[in-house]
Amino acid sequence: MNKDQPHIQIQPRRPFVQQDLDELVSSAHAHNASEQWVYGNCQVERCFFYPEVVQDIDTWATNSLESTPVAETGGFLLGNYAMTPIDSYILAVQHFLPAEHISFQSSHRLRMGPASMLALDKAQLAYPDQLVLGWFHTHPGHTPFFSEIDLGTHEAFFKMPYHIGVVMDPCQETYPTAIFARREDKTMVTHWNPIEWIKWEDLRN
Ligand SMILES: [Zn+2]
Repeated sequence: MNKDQPHIQIQPRRPFVQQDLDELVSSAHAHNASEQWVYGNCQVERCFFYPEVVQDIDTWATNSLESTPVAETGGFLLGNYAMTPIDSYILAVQHFLPAEHISFQSSHRLRMGPASMLALDKAQLAYPDQLVLGWFHTHPGHTPFFSEIDLGTHEAFFKMPYHIGVVMDPCQETYPTAIFARREDKTMVTHWNPIEWIKWEDLRN
């Protein structure tokens, strides 16, 4: 492990009871959640993004465009998961929590330090029925992919097989976005074929 990456793991704040698959899917449909498939044959098969998450991420990313130069920004994804009969994960992302106390932020780098993680740990208390499903950050003008720093962050803080990293480029008109997850062999997918990128603008109502 990189020595400037502290050894903190994001743990559920209570024993977590995994949701029934049918229940999770029907609840997501009832809430009009947007269903997105994960590229690259990963342990996470699909993600449902609840409308307030779509909106909150959209607003957070749009607000970041006001800084000059546009800095990377990020946050955390909370919700629930269920498992399919072939043991892949289906996520219901129900809440977006903007990151606080980021240790380093520029147009090309975002490093979530221990202070961000401790703030997250505290903030989780407000959502006792949800757990941390992963994180979100922007790549202003340099397309959605997982960089070496992103891999370091993911390996340091997001070790669970259901943990995802969502990356968006808000400097492109459609807000192209990709969801990164682990393959069966636990390695991360780091690039999506651009034709598979999610256009976040299509998820808006
Ligand atoms: Zn990145």
